[in-house]
Amino acid sequence: MSPCRIMSKLITSRILFRWDLIIMRNKKKGFTLTFLSSLLVTLSVILTLGISIFVGTHGIKDALIANTLTMNRINAEKLAVTTNDLFNSMKNSLAVTADLLERDWGRGDIQKQLDLFRSVNQNFNSIYFVDPQGIMRQSSPRNELQGTKLTSSGSAEAIMEKKPLVSDPYIGGTSKPLVQVSQPLFNREGVYLGYIGGSIMLQEKNIFQTILGSYPDIQTGSYIFVVNSKGQLIYHPNASRIGDDVTSNPSVDEVLHEKSGQQRVVNTRGVDMLAGYAPVPVTRWGVIVQTPTQSVVSLTSQLVSSVLKYTLPGIALLLIIAWLIAVKISKPLYLLAEYARTISNQEHNLKLPMPRSHNWNYETNQLRSAIGLAVSRMQSQMNHLSLQAQTDALTGLHNRRSLDARMEKWAHDEMPLCMLVLDIDRFKSVNDMYGHDRGDDVLKYLAQTMEHHVRESGVCFRYGGEEFVIVLPNVSKQTAYDLAEQLRAAVEVTVSPINKPITVSIGLSASDECGYAGLFAAADRALYRAKQSGRNRTVTA
Ligand code: GH3
Ligand code: MG
Ligand code: MG
Repeated sequence: MSPCRIMSKLITSRILFRWDLIIMRNKKKGFTLTFLSSLLVTLSVILTLGISIFVGTHGIKDALIANTLTMNRINAEKLAVTTNDLFNSMKNSLAVTADLLERDWGRGDIQKQLDLFRSVNQNFNSIYFVDPQGIMRQSSPRNELQGTKLTSSGSAEAIMEKKPLVSDPYIGGTSKPLVQVSQPLFNREGVYLGYIGGSIMLQEKNIFQTILGSYPDIQTGSYIFVVNSKGQLIYHPNASRIGDDVTSNPSVDEVLHEKSGQQRVVNTRGVDMLAGYAPVPVTRWGVIVQTPTQSVVSLTSQLVSSVLKYTLPGIALLLIIAWLIAVKISKPLYLLAEYARTISNQEHNLKLPMPRSHNWNYETNQLRSAIGLAVSRMQSQMNHLSLQAQTDALTGLHNRRSLDARMEKWAHDEMPLCMLVLDIDRFKSVNDMYGHDRGDDVLKYLAQTMEHHVRESGVCFRYGGEEFVIVLPNVSKQTAYDLAEQLRAAVEVTVSPINKPITVSIGLSASDECGYAGLFAAADRALYRAKQSGRNRTVTA
């Protein structure tokens, strides 16, 4: 049978709605096999699922952490390379412009050159020419500092060093943090003419934001920051943190030693982070990409819950199938148990048919045939005992108990009856003369003679001692009388075990005259009269 057919059979069968079968009978009698096996399956499934989730969660978490670390390192390296290349190109383009200005010094229009430079190079927020006294002569775009003396550290450093520089971040004349890329100018005689500077305003839209703009990653909470050679922030998504010292971050320490790599760190704010880092050689800066470890953990739980979402229906289906199979297997056992309980309650229940139930289970089948065998043995023993209880051991006739039981039934059925009560005449003397055993033989002989005469028309009983009863249903009193007389006459002339005939006296009564309750008493009284009037005769009541 296909699994689908089994399922549909189970679903349509009524066993699914037998809650007593499914759960338990009561606390004293214990839980049903269905309940226990379903419980076992459920516990195994839940335990397996729990272990899988536990192991899976750890596996996924470790894999995600490793993956995030690697991705952060790769991103940091890419960004460091890009930044490095960018600064090289910015320095180079400043050098080219400076070269042009040097060659045309005194003739060219500096302002025009600067505007031209800025129109083709958007990497700087502004570009300007500063003379050896530190006065900003021209700037593009024009700004309020033009014509004023720059007192900032960046300007002083550029004038003092007189070489291409990328400054550390400093607060400029506009009171905002900036980084300056500068290129010195010399005339043909080598006299210092000042420098061309390009500013990157750290808190405004700048080239860093263009390069690093893909961060922060809102979903994972990843973000990127850049530190200068002193471990101060020169780029951070939170602009207010620019200038903060973050050297206590272990990955910053590493990157300042010009190492690239990845590690799990606790950042300056005490947050557990997955960091990838890489140095920018041209500026001696470091690029660090960080992801909060917590976001990976929550991503893991999201993953696990989405896995669960897809797994749970399957598990539920598995549980239902296991439960249905458990019901299917245990139903025959349950029915057998119920059968055993019923037959042990009342003896006549032994006749109840065994529950018919097809089963796949070997033990159930064995149990079923064992119970069947035991019940049929018990049944035949009961029949034997009941027969014994209703039979007279000496003569094999029905006994007085049987007479009482049958009378009850006949009376209940209102069956018309005639009753003969027989008593052997002077039987005491038979015993006395021939012995008790021979007396017994006479009793047996009389019983056979009675049965021979009565045949199918009635039932013979040994009432007790040497008294017998014959009940004749559905016969007239006359017919009964004739039968009694035939019997009596036959006994009178037949040689008995004492080598001569015996005689019997018979009393006759009919239920339509004296009722069922008075039937025996009436016949017995008639018998008494028969004895009184000389024996060996039939007297009617
Ligand atoms: P009556 O004609 O008046 O009936 O005389 P009776 O001798 O038959 O009188 P009674 O009923 O007093 O005696 C019955 C005797 O039957 C007494 C007893 O010894 C004998 N008897 C009763 N049961 C058995 C039995 O099972 N076997 C034998 N051998 N004798 C029995
Ligand atoms: Mg007697
Ligand atoms: Mg007698």
